[in-house]
Amino acid sequence: MKLILLGAPGSGKGTQAAYISDKYDLPHISTGDLFRENIKEKTPLGLKVKAVMDTGNLCPDDLTVELVKDRLNNADCKVGYLLDGFPRDLVQAVALDEISAPDKVINLVVDLSKIEHRITGRRSCQFCGGSFHVDFIGNVDNCPTCGEKLTIRKDDNPETVKERLDVYQTQTAPLIEYYSKQGKLININGDQSIDKVFEDIVKVL
Ligand code: ADP
Ligand code: ZN
Repeated sequence: MKLILLGAPGSGKGTQAAYISDKYDLPHISTGDLFRENIKEKTPLGLKVKAVMDTGNLCPDDLTVELVKDRLNNADCKVGYLLDGFPRDLVQAVALDEISAPDKVINLVVDLSKIEHRITGRRSCQFCGGSFHVDFIGNVDNCPTCGEKLTIRKDDNPETVKERLDVYQTQTAPLIEYYSKQGKLININGDQSIDKVFEDIVKVL
């Protein structure tokens, strides 16, 4: 099965991706995570994208497509894929259709007025990759899964979030129509509990 998770920043893609990947044994490919790893390791790619990522804008299409193409060549993608954060604009969507077209596109729908609160309350664990909202964890300093120190992503501040939402609306939202025309789009209400959102996704897969 080849799946795409679509949705605004903070709509819960990463959280749902972990559940889906686990249940259906699909490789979870998050371009955001791949870029962040490259930045952490100071690779040539990481050095190229760091500045633009910090502003909330998209990394260049050619670099992003190349990164995903490479990743999809790994043996674990023989069974399919679960893409989270890619494609993010029409150029990337058209490129993916040429590389390996998706079967279904899950669109997580969340009211944009709720997004800022979701993102600015996000805490991330660099060790296990977990991501949590302060509203739901008692101790906001340590990861509830592995106990390591939680951090705030560099682009999770109010100004950058505004930019990311703008980018989403102008560049990513058009993909809803693109996949809808292909008959692949499935809308899921992302404004429910994590378990309920997952339940709704499982129903349509
Ligand atoms: P979120 O979904 O919460 O916005 P991500 O971790 O998916 O966060 O992405 C963080 C940043 O990484 C984006 O703002 C962008 O700079 C970069 N990025 C991630 N995926 C892509 C992509 N497909 N194309 C271009 N840039 C990307
Ligand atoms: Zn952790």
